[in-house]
Amino acid sequence: MGLKVQLPKSVKDILDKFNQKGFEIYIVGGAVRDILMGRLTNDWDFTTNATPDKILEVVPGGLYNNEFGTVFTPNPDEKDRPHEITTFRKEEGYQDFRHPDKITWGKSLEEDLSRRDFTINALALDCNLKLIDLYKGEDDIKNKVIRAVRDPNERFSEDALRMMRAIRIAAELGFTIEEKTLEAIKKNATLINKIAKERVKEELFKLLKSPYPYEGMLILRSSGLSQEILPELEKCFGVEQKSPGRHHIYDVGEHLLMSLKNCKSVDPLTRFATLIHDIGKPQTYKKLDSGTITFYNHEMVSTKIAENIAERLKFSNKEKEKLITLVRWHQFTVDERQTNSAIRRFIKNVGKQNLEDMLSLRVGDRLGGGARETSWRLEEFKRRLLEVQKEPFSIRDLKINGNDVMKTLKIKPGPKVGNILEKLFEKVVAKEIPNEKEKLLKKLKTF
Ligand code: ATP
Ligand code: MG
Repeated sequence: MGLKVQLPKSVKDILDKFNQKGFEIYIVGGAVRDILMGRLTNDWDFTTNATPDKILEVVPGGLYNNEFGTVFTPNPDEKDRPHEITTFRKEEGYQDFRHPDKITWGKSLEEDLSRRDFTINALALDCNLKLIDLYKGEDDIKNKVIRAVRDPNERFSEDALRMMRAIRIAAELGFTIEEKTLEAIKKNATLINKIAKERVKEELFKLLKSPYPYEGMLILRSSGLSQEILPELEKCFGVEQKSPGRHHIYDVGEHLLMSLKNCKSVDPLTRFATLIHDIGKPQTYKKLDSGTITFYNHEMVSTKIAENIAERLKFSNKEKEKLITLVRWHQFTVDERQTNSAIRRFIKNVGKQNLEDMLSLRVGDRLGGGARETSWRLEEFKRRLLEVQKEPFSIRDLKINGNDVMKTLKIKPGPKVGNILEKLFEKVVAKEIPNEKEKLLKKLKTF
């Protein structure tokens, strides 16, 4: 009896075509898992006994990728996730804890499934939609557990990235990690240092982007992996910040995790910034005679650590910039007595494009410290952010430019032009004149 599921036409076509040519073909990987969980999937992977040259005969439009032995064919439902068809594989020899020394074609589906990482990923559906489940993956889906296929110790020492995958997939699906599998991660955790940092970062960001980033981080900690990839974060646990007159209810590390849990942004980078925003606190901890605990200048130290982490984990320059910005300015004040120019300076420092994320970090920080989500001060600050942005921001936003100044006053290019624009700008900001071309030109003539 096959599963009752409606496959997209393009998927059905692939199964039919291989079947008609006498090849074995199966849907494998995440798609089968999603089908059994009743989730929509757009990520279709297939495995077949046809070698790549034969695959290309069956799907002539396919693109062959040599490195993985995979043929990609267009997916009409999701243009940037082509269908992937791969010949049965078996893998042998892992000298670098990541890539098998050689990829060899396997002879059977069984061989192919046995090299896969987790039982819930080692399921296959044949062309009659019959489920092939050699490792009790269906039970593990029902029980919501991630369990390594075969011996977990061997699997993680073969490919240490699987440890990150286990936790990331758990965070994506809301699963836990089966005991022996978790034990094996603890045992092999230091091997993660052999993996290219780009790959580790990619898995960490997928974890952060998932529906359960907080739970994922808890597993990352209890597995010992967090100590390897983010030792600076581990140093925050046990650093107390409760003191007379302060509202903190958690230690620094707990506060950071709780901030992440409450961060409203879905952007993994903003979530990461929220997770590490106070990461410099252990280094700036001071307990005064009064018993008050201070972390003077912690945002600067946190910024430096954020920069180190971004470099170590090979963030792109753009990601690094944004991370540093969010951490550097996270202590912004929302005092209603601030002047407009103080608010403008804040906007300039943070960048208009990052304001929303800066506020998400603040909300996470507040909730993660036991405060309410917002306050009238914060709401007032948000209102003023919008108001100030409607006003011209720099001389470039003025409705006249240097040419207008030179023409009207008949002067040559030089610093004077800029000075005059600067003066006009100040008058516009002070609301002495509106930012309208006619009015500005008229004012110019009085200079
Ligand atoms: P997602 O596409 O969301 O990352 P997925 O489960 O489809 O999830 P892929 O990375 O696309 O994961 O890999 C497809 C399949 O290949 C997996 O389901 C798993 O069976 C297998 N696989 C991927 N990476 C590994 C690995 N490092 N070790 C063993 N098997 C793996
Ligand atoms: Mg996939």
